[in-house]
This record gives sequence, C-alpha cells and structure tokens, in this order.
Amino acid sequence: MALTIRGLSKTYPNGVKALRNLNLSIGNCMFGLLGPNGAGKSTLMRTIATLQDPDDGSIELDGIDVLREKNEIRRILGYLPQEFGVYPKISAFEMLQHLAILKGMTQTGERKDFIDALLQQTNLWDVRNKALTTFSGGMKQRFGIAQALLGNPRLIIVDEPTAGLDPAERNRFLNLLSSVASDRTVILSTHIVDDVRQLCPRMAIIVEGELLLEGAPAETIAALNGRVWSKIAGNDDEFRSLESQFRILSTYLVAGQRAVRIYSESDPGQGFHAVESGLEDVYFLHLRPFPHARASASGNGSSNGQPVQ
Ligand code: ADP
Ligand code: MG
Repeated sequence: MALTIRGLSKTYPNGVKALRNLNLSIGNCMFGLLGPNGAGKSTLMRTIATLQDPDDGSIELDGIDVLREKNEIRRILGYLPQEFGVYPKISAFEMLQHLAILKGMTQTGERKDFIDALLQQTNLWDVRNKALTTFSGGMKQRFGIAQALLGNPRLIIVDEPTAGLDPAERNRFLNLLSSVASDRTVILSTHIVDDVRQLCPRMAIIVEGELLLEGAPAETIAALNGRVWSKIAGNDDEFRSLESQFRILSTYLVAGQRAVRIYSESDPGQGFHAVESGLEDVYFLHLRPFPHARASASGNGSSNGQPVQ
C-alpha cells in the first residue's frame, strides 16, 4: 500500500492555515504523525478519510484518487476520529452490529462471527453486553478500534487515540494497535513522542501545517548522536545565560534540580556532558521556531531523517 500526498493545503474560513503545501509518502507500516496541538494533524486525517476537502493538492492511494473516488476509499478505510462522538446507551455488541450493517455486512452469521472475533481481539468480549456509556476511556478507545476494523479495511487512521488514557490503558491500547498494524497500514497521529517511539518504523513531524521532518525515528535519533548535551542549570540567571548562548531542547527536573538539554554540534564546555539523543530531542529541535535549527539537524545528509524545508 502506498499513500502519496502532494501539495496539500487548507485554509479555514476564519483564515487559519491548517495545512501548507504538505508532501508526504506513507508506505506499508505504522506511520506516526507527530505534532503539537493545532499542527494540522486532524485536518490531514479528516482529509485522507474523505470527510473534508483541501483547497489544493492531491492524495493518491494505490492508484485511487482519494479526493475524487471517495467511495472507493471508504470501502478500504477504517477511521477512529479524535472525538468519537456520542456514546449511546446500547451495548458494544449492538453498536458494532449496527455499524456493520451500515458497512454492508448483510450476512447474519458471517457478521456475528466477525464481530465476535473483533470483541475478542480488542479485549472487550467480557463487556460486550454492557452499555457503551459505562466504558472507561481505554475501553472506549478499544471499541473505537473495533469499529474501525469493521469490513477489514487495509488502511486505518487513528487520531490521537492515547490522549487521556492512564498508563496501563495506554499500554494495552498500544499493544492492540501494533497487533492491528501487522497486516495493514496504520496512520497514527499523536502529540506523545513515546507513542511514536514505541510503535512507528516511520514518522513525520508537522507543525503549523508544515512538514518539518520525515524519516525513521531511529535514524533521526542517530543523526543527533553526539550533539545533545546536558547539565544542571542552577539559578534563573544561569538558565537565562544558557538560553542566550545555546539552543535549548528541553528542561527537566532531576531530584528537584533543573537540568537542561541543549543541541550543540561541538562541545559546549561550561560543565555540559554529552548525553544519548532520544526522539524527544528530535521533536523539540524541530518544534521550536528557530530558523537555522532546522537546517542543522540534517546530520549526514542522507535522505532519512532529513528535515524538509
Ligand atoms: P491538530 O489535530 O494537530 O491539533 P487541527 O487540524 O485540529 O490540528 O487544527 C489545525 C488548525 O486549524 C488549528 O489552528 C485549529 O484551531 C484550526 N481549525 C481546525 N478545524 C477548524 C475549523 N473547522 N474551522 C476553523 N479552524 C479550524
Ligand atoms: Mg487533532
């Protein structure tokens, strides 16, 4: 499966530019779309899911023109929106049954077998007769995956599915998603770096509707090898001084003391020590508006992990 997005742009009537000339290719794997709130992730996902039109650009999926042949796409697509609407008082089984009929699964026996298997797969079998309104956040998201899998779609789009889940629920959900991705393409949007690190062989970072980086997480991390440094920042004056000299990636606390991580191509001295780079460093390097920072993250100039201007 190959999804090719070319020159996608969208400006909402209120003037917000949600997508700016976005180009992206997504192959057969779990693809992570990482970006902060407002980056344009949901806009992009709704557009791929044929629920809204862009102003410009094209999307092609294995030779199908996504923006024109909407019904073709809907037949092979499963979608879990960020806001999964109203949860009715009916049970998980009844709701899946209803949605399956809408999807055209008309054979009663076959439909029941399929739904039973989905309930097992998403670990909702024991609660299948309980009302959806009584479900926890994690159960709702697993139900969301179950409904997205109706009709056995080849492409699944899940929009920020782990936001608001507690650690155990999130873990269970990520495991489910990785099992689902074993035989289909999954596009996952998230603002949680760890979701991408745990699940995705490929990823893109988008900020303010622009694609800033596309690559394999491991390669983008390796491109920062030897360029991430850390030290305890001391008081506010010292911190401000560091801020004016260096590109700060993040600040964090170690036993109550503030530490900083910076990006520097050479040894910054001043008591900094080299630390192992991580995906958060990659993310923060691209997240902050710092004109020359994007160019300096390109590493060895290979096509992977290279920032896109
Ligand atoms: P994300 O999912 O990454 O948080 P969105 O695609 O939801 O980003 O939003 C991108 C930008 O577009 C944001 O600034 C958001 O406020 C704006 N936006 C999203 N939907 C609409 C809409 N229907 N009308 C106007 N602005 C919108
Ligand atoms: Mg969103």
